[in-house]
Amino acid sequence: MQLSHSYATELADTVSPVKPRPLSGMTMPMYNAELAGQFNLPDADALMAAIFDQQGDLAVRSVAQKYGGHQFGQWNPYLGDGRGLLLGEVSDSNGSRLDLHLKGAGQTPYSRHADGRAVLRSTLREYIGSEALHHLRIPTSRALCLMASDESILRELPEPGAMMIRMAPSHLRFGHFEFYYHNKQKDTLDKLMNYTLAHHFPECLDEPAPHKALLTAITLRTARMVALWQAYGFVHGVMNTDNMSIHGITFDYGPYAFIEQFKQNAVFNHSDYEGRYAFDRQPGVALWNLNALAYAFSDYLSTDDIRACLMLFEPTFLSQYRHQMLSRIGLTDSTENEGCLNTWLSLLNAEKRDYTQSFRQLAEADVNLPQSPLRDHFIDRASFDSWWQDYRERRLSADTEGDDLLTLNPLVIPRTHYLQEAIEAAEQGDFGPAHQLMEAIRQPFTLNEATRNYQQPGTSASAVSLSCS
Ligand code: AMP
Ligand code: MG
Ligand code: MG
Repeated sequence: MQLSHSYATELADTVSPVKPRPLSGMTMPMYNAELAGQFNLPDADALMAAIFDQQGDLAVRSVAQKYGGHQFGQWNPYLGDGRGLLLGEVSDSNGSRLDLHLKGAGQTPYSRHADGRAVLRSTLREYIGSEALHHLRIPTSRALCLMASDESILRELPEPGAMMIRMAPSHLRFGHFEFYYHNKQKDTLDKLMNYTLAHHFPECLDEPAPHKALLTAITLRTARMVALWQAYGFVHGVMNTDNMSIHGITFDYGPYAFIEQFKQNAVFNHSDYEGRYAFDRQPGVALWNLNALAYAFSDYLSTDDIRACLMLFEPTFLSQYRHQMLSRIGLTDSTENEGCLNTWLSLLNAEKRDYTQSFRQLAEADVNLPQSPLRDHFIDRASFDSWWQDYRERRLSADTEGDDLLTLNPLVIPRTHYLQEAIEAAEQGDFGPAHQLMEAIRQPFTLNEATRNYQQPGTSASAVSLSCS
């Protein structure tokens, strides 16, 4: 396996070398052959051997990264990779480069007395969730493989331990920059900025003010990512700044969930007592997080320039969101159609309709019909009918065909109850349901044998609240 170690080498004073420690009885029941193929990575057995027998490029080169973060609004300087290790970087034939990060690899100097481990439940949720977002075309880290074990890890109850490898352009979080700023390590912050510009945002180096271009790029990418979350009903759950990637990709999956019964302020993370990270707060939190990141730029940019960067967030978010949403319902991207969209959302909200299913049904509906069969899903038929009349007129009078709505409105999202089924089987050693669910989320827009059985909303009993771990 050809790994490079630019981060570990060029930013050596920001990392601690740590070797991964295997769990007992490890196997690799999930392996992403498509992603592995793209980066010419070894097969499952060889990959496991490379990591744990520490041969070749991997020997002693794995590192734990130091970072801090604002957790639920509070600055915490004591964070870092407490259970994850950066193994190195790989490139594909087009030169696109990704990190390999092993999660659950044992204790590090940043474990803070925790065990350095991850459980099967949470690694499987991250594996399937991140691949699901990827196939929904939402920027995200990817999952390369999942390793199960026969070792049990103590959480609220004992649970099977596991590890996974995820891939991302880098594992640089907002919290990396915040840490070296608040810790007053200007030299290290300089190095981090230079590294980031050179390796990840080289286009910014062509600008008259590279740091301003960098903060702008992070702001725009974050706005676009959150617009896609809002458009597809994704709730991240723990938008702490240590879980925010500078690449504007969905990162560090914990108690995430997709909205099922539509509810604007849905919260699934059971430790989010105040609903700080509720669905409808995500755009505001993203901006709050960018603001926290922006402090780290204050040695490089004037306050006016920082403000100018952050001011880009709201218009970018709003225009991306409107574009996504109006595309999903087949209307032209114009302010004149916003009211129609909002009425549709209010109908879903008032009648607690399943968010994903309702958009799919609308995408399949025939707008030539003066009365839609969709009306049967609504108790308040009068309101639905009057909205439908307005909506179909807009659709019929649009002069462009627009995209095929079926390619914008998925049948399959990783619903909590399907994840739960896959987890329960996997905990008994049966990864069949996890593989079947993966097969479905790989083709979320197509109705076929693989996807047919993954469209049902969960019952309220299955809408469990979720924890991290
Ligand atoms: P998270 O909530 O997963 O984003 O993690 C927040 C911080 O806690 C990070 O610094 C993690 O590395 C650390 N952490 C979480 N779980 C563990 C664990 N089991 N062992 C050691 N560190 C952990
Ligand atoms: Mg984290
Ligand atoms: Mg985490």
